Order: sequence, then C-alpha cells, then structure tokens
Amino acid sequence: MSTITHHAPDALLAAYASGNLPHSFALVIAAHVSLCPECRVALAAHQAVGGTVLNASAPVDLSEGLKSRVLAQLDAPQGPEPTYQRSSIFPGSIMAALKGKPPRWKSLGMGVRQSLLSADKSGSARLLYIPPGRAVPDHSHNGLELTLVLQGSFSDATGTFGVGDLEVADEDLDHQPIADPGRPCICLAATDAPLRFNAFLPRLLQPLFGI
Ligand code: ZN
Ligand code: ZN
Repeated sequence: MSTITHHAPDALLAAYASGNLPHSFALVIAAHVSLCPECRVALAAHQAVGGTVLNASAPVDLSEGLKSRVLAQLDAPQGPEPTYQRSSIFPGSIMAALKGKPPRWKSLGMGVRQSLLSADKSGSARLLYIPPGRAVPDHSHNGLELTLVLQGSFSDATGTFGVGDLEVADEDLDHQPIADPGRPCICLAATDAPLRFNAFLPRLLQPLFGI
C-alpha cells in the first residue's frame, strides 16, 4: 500500500496530461505518477477527458495542410512518460534524464550534493543528496518549485515528506528542508525560476551551480 500523503495538485496533472508543462516539471510529475497509484488514476481521468473532448467535437472541414500539421503533432515525441517497473530508486523518467548512467554528484557544501538533470529557459531539474540531519540552504522561490522524495525523507515548516511525496513551493513559502535521521535523503527538485537564498554564501555560489 502506498504511504504517499503529498500529491500532485490536480492543475499540474491536467497540464501534464495536455502536454503544457515545462520539461523540468513534466519530469517530476512523470516520476510522481510512476510512484503514486492515486495520481495515476487521476491522470488517466484527465487523459480520458482530453480524449473525449477530441472525439465529441463535431467534424470540421480541415484543410489538408492543417490536417497534416495536426497529425504530425499527434506523432510528435512526447515529454517524460511515467513508468511502472523500477530496479532502482529512480523512476524511468529520471533514468532517461540520466541516460541510464549513475548521477554525477557535485558538492554544494556541508555534505549536500546535486546532479543537474536539465536546464533551459523554461526551468531546471536536479537530483539533491542530503545527508541525515543536514539542510538545503534556507531559500524562497521566484516561481514554482516541485520536490519529489526518492529516498529517505525531509521535513520543513510545512510537514514531513517521505518517498513518493511531492512538495509544491511557491513565492509565499520560505523554507529550509532538513533531511530526517536514517538514510540520506535523495530528491528530484525542479524550478521554473532561480531560487532566492537568504544567506550571502549560497547567493554567491548560486551562479556557479546553476541553482
Ligand atoms: Zn500522488
Ligand atoms: Zn524550496
């Protein structure tokens, strides 16, 4: 039985189903859905509704050019997909982003490490490795931040997040996630804008690490 208590907001599942999420967020939603039977059902419902709207719409006289463009779009490569068989802590969408190789960890100091998975104008996604009892530097957000726990757990002012839990943080949340005792906490974190660190040193390091 799933012990996940923090789920993907419905609006994000709907946006994912319609292919309207930035790549970094789609990666997180695909990974959460891989781990979460509840959101898998919710996503299937969104996908079914999308299909119904397509099927129910009255036939329109499409010009040949438009028809072929629409068909080409249907065949276009899709974003990250959920997977349901796992041989490691990383769901398939993350394994694909890692190209099947182990993460290349870079130190952020204090034992915290990150491995950048993707970064472009629409945002970035990274794996974070946080030793037990250690914290990600206190920060707030310029946009939206999604954090999915893959191993261990962390806590911040909003609660405790275990494997499969998804934290959604926005401009209003200023938080310092701390890894709980036990196994090191490994998360997938995605943002659509740079974080705002509250201490000087991380601010100084930020451009170096692309966070
Ligand atoms: Zn869920
Ligand atoms: Zn954050």
